[in-house]
Amino acid sequence: MATVDLDEIRKTFGGSEVLKGVSLQIADGEFLSLVGPSGCGKSTLLRILAGLETQTSGRVCIGGACVDGRRAADRDLAMVFQSYALYPHLTVAGNIAVPLTMRRLSVAQRLPLVGRFLPGARARRAAIAQTVHETAEILEIRHLLARKPGQLSGGQRQRVALGRALVREPAAFLLDEPLSNLDAKMRVHMRAEIAQLNRRLGATFVYVTHDQAEAMTMSDRIAVMMEGEILQVGAPAELYDHPAELRVAQFIGSPA
Ligand code: ADP
Ligand code: MG
Repeated sequence: MATVDLDEIRKTFGGSEVLKGVSLQIADGEFLSLVGPSGCGKSTLLRILAGLETQTSGRVCIGGACVDGRRAADRDLAMVFQSYALYPHLTVAGNIAVPLTMRRLSVAQRLPLVGRFLPGARARRAAIAQTVHETAEILEIRHLLARKPGQLSGGQRQRVALGRALVREPAAFLLDEPLSNLDAKMRVHMRAEIAQLNRRLGATFVYVTHDQAEAMTMSDRIAVMMEGEILQVGAPAELYDHPAELRVAQFIGSPA
């Protein structure tokens, strides 16, 4: 169960309130896009949900449990950023495996010389390799596993970053403008891939973008945010046909 429940989230940076009491409920398995102009607070809200930033007030619940005070690593979420942040010295396979090796091996098992001879270490490594291969299969990057990030295109790098999130099998994926560094053609292609991933995995997706067209094509529901507030939440057609106010209509591009 990966429902996400944000309750009256406020955030103040140096005296200015960038989130003004944001409440949002996201259903298990839902693809929700958070859209709005640059600077309206989307990333801040996502970072608070991820546990990378602490809200000034309000509550965050994931799967029905209040997670305030829980570290990012203990929230069962995976975040994918606009900058892919891959390790340049690791292969694609190594990059995808990072969360697995961090989580499932003890410190001793991670030491190359000691770990090799510990009981169970070989079986664990085989299981990790298996997971990496299956993940690469889903993302159609199996042929790239031995390459380094420097040898990949932007779209391929973004898939690797998604792969690294996938292997964690999180209850929810948080994506912050993950396609904005890609060219237009790859962006359209990756949109479809990500939406498909959501259906295939049945995991909850929270997708931040300033591109309303992107949100309109991918989402179950869209939350329109402006100046630290959510103006309206609804299915794409609902927002288009029945915008709650002029600012929503203007942002979504509804006819006046
Ligand atoms: P968005 O992702 O919608 O573009 P952000 O959440 O990044 O917006 O930023 C919202 C507002 O909060 C902006 O005015 C930004 O300058 C400010 N802000 C974000 N992070 C910080 C920070 N760490 N310190 C001070 N101000 C910040
Ligand atoms: Mg942002």
